[in-house]
Amino acid sequence: MRRAIISDIHGNAVALEAVLADIATKDCDSIYCLGDVIGYGPQPRECLELCKDLQLNLMGNHEEAVLFEPIGFNPKARVAIEWTKEQLTLPSATREENRALWDLVGSMVDRHVEDDVLYVHASPREPIREYVFVSDVRNTEKMDEIFAALEQPLCFNGHTHTAGVFTEDYQFLPPGSIGNRYKVGDKRVIINVGSVGQPRDGDPRSSYVIFDGETVEFQRVKYDVEKTIQKFRENSTLPEYLALRLIEGR
Ligand code: ZN
Repeated sequence: MRRAIISDIHGNAVALEAVLADIATKDCDSIYCLGDVIGYGPQPRECLELCKDLQLNLMGNHEEAVLFEPIGFNPKARVAIEWTKEQLTLPSATREENRALWDLVGSMVDRHVEDDVLYVHASPREPIREYVFVSDVRNTEKMDEIFAALEQPLCFNGHTHTAGVFTEDYQFLPPGSIGNRYKVGDKRVIINVGSVGQPRDGDPRSSYVIFDGETVEFQRVKYDVEKTIQKFRENSTLPEYLALRLIEGR
C-alpha cells in the first residue's frame, strides 16, 4: 500500500494539477482527499472534476458551508462561499453537469476509518470544523480531549493548512525538523497533511503526504502561483487578499 493524502485544495486547480502530476510519478495506488476541495479559490468546478475519481473524498467545512450554512466564516470567506455556490449552478453548464458536482459534494462523508487509521478534515472530536493549531500543544486540556476522542493510534487531518505531526505527549513536529519523514511507532499521533491550494506555513509550495502503512513522507510541490493569481484577477467577486496570500504561503 502506498497512498497519497491531500487536503485543502480550495479551488486552486493549478496547484491541484501540479500535485496530481507529482503523485503520478511516485508510484501510489490510491489518493485520499480530506476535504475543502472548494472555497476561497477561483476554480471550484475544475477542482471537483479533478477529485471526483479519487478513492476517498471527505467533507470539509467549506463543502458543509456550500451545502448548508457558512457557520463561523469571516466576511471574506463568506463572499467566496456564496460565489462558489453560484459556480456549482452555472446557467452555462448543463443540468447534468451541475448535478454531478452537487452529487459529489453531497456524497462526501465526515470521517473514514481503515486499517486502524482515522481520516478526517478537522479533528477526531469534531471532524468537519474543529481546528487543531500548532499553538494548541500548550493547551494540554484541549489536546487530551482531542486524543481521547481518537480511537485509533493514528489520524490524518488537514484544515489548518499547516503540515506536521502532533503527538499525544504535546509535541508538534514540523516536517523540516524530522527530515520530512515520520515513522509511526508507539506514540499516538495526528498528522496534518498541509494544504494543496492555500499553504499557510510560510512556504507557498503545495503540501501533501505519502503513507505506506508505516512511514509518512511529507511532500512539497512548486506550482505556478502567478497563474492562479491571474484567475483571481479575472474574477471580480473574490477578494484580492485571497490571491495575495498565496505568494507568501500565509
Ligand atoms: Zn481549508
